[in-house]
Amino acid sequence: MAQDDPLSWIRPEVRRLAPYHVVDPGDAIKLDAMENPYRLPVDLEQPWLERLRKVPINRYPDPGAEGVRSRLARALGMREGNAIVLGNGSDELIQIIALSVAERGRVVLAPGPSFVMYRMIAAFTGMRFVEVPLQAENYTLDMPAMRTAIERFRPAVVFLSYPNNPTGNLWRREEVLEILELSPGIVVVDEAYAPFASDTLVDVAGSRPGLVVMRTLSKMGLAGLRLGLAVGDAPLIGEFDKLRLPYNINVLTQASVEFALDHAPVFERQAERIRADRGELFRRLAAMDGVRPYSSEANFILFRVIPGIAASVHACLRERGVLIKNLATLPQLEDCLRVTVGSPEENTVFLDALGHCLG
Ligand SMILES: *Cc1c(COP(=O)(O)O)cnc(C)c1O
Repeated sequence: MAQDDPLSWIRPEVRRLAPYHVVDPGDAIKLDAMENPYRLPVDLEQPWLERLRKVPINRYPDPGAEGVRSRLARALGMREGNAIVLGNGSDELIQIIALSVAERGRVVLAPGPSFVMYRMIAAFTGMRFVEVPLQAENYTLDMPAMRTAIERFRPAVVFLSYPNNPTGNLWRREEVLEILELSPGIVVVDEAYAPFASDTLVDVAGSRPGLVVMRTLSKMGLAGLRLGLAVGDAPLIGEFDKLRLPYNINVLTQASVEFALDHAPVFERQAERIRADRGELFRRLAAMDGVRPYSSEANFILFRVIPGIAASVHACLRERGVLIKNLATLPQLEDCLRVTVGSPEENTVFLDALGHCLG
């Protein structure tokens, strides 16, 4: 029997996707991906390696990663009746949550511009993605538009990045709570940047059964380990947990995260440092001619340059050994670039190079 072209079996929405592209940084100063510039302090290296040495890599991991989950529950002050599900990064949790509601014709909704994975994962899971544009002037929520869209599309899930990537701002808390009130389905508050933000909704996670708060260890210094978490009402989290592949958090990650959480103040001090340096970076950007930075509650700053030059500024920085993110091809982000807050030395190299590139 003649075989069909195997590609004809691939779902059209998958065929249409562009592969997720990650730029090879070479030996550039890497300020494109919101990584923490600081490594584990040297005095913790040896104790960490001792912990890893004991890990039985011939055995499957603890499927529930109890050691990690109990430490996280304590660190978050998790309320009675809530539970935690862990993902291989919060990207995996976005996928698990989408998969749990995925049915043709259903809608995933988010304000935009926002985190690209919401749109991509809606496509992975065969759902429709509705993006409600943010207000043009300052990227705040357009509440009348949000109300109308929620009523019209009755989204299965609403994703709210709090603070928002790539704009860096935090929505007003009352607005998030109103969206929660209006939404018929699940509302995921994605707090990837919580260590750098002035507010969190983790205290109200699960207070309404549809409210799930998501966190990740990536932006606070452990991006290589891949660990994300979602906290919410135990029955709902239990459904997500069924879709989690049994051993999604590997033994080295479990042991390393337990170690890191036992030394949480180290990471809190790093985040504090980054928040202070963000202030300095913002002031110096704001003082440059032809640059408009947007204030940020995350570990990056979005900034606008004069029309038409974003791509060449990005390329010029790259030539001078600094890699940032060019967002200028995206809707509502014309002329915009995004820089991660690095170490003070990295930030200075970036600012000097930017000054040069703006000529
Ligand atoms: C970086 C980021 C994530 C993904 O984090 P991982 O845990 O590394 O998968 C999720 N949400 C937002 C808004 C992000 O910016």
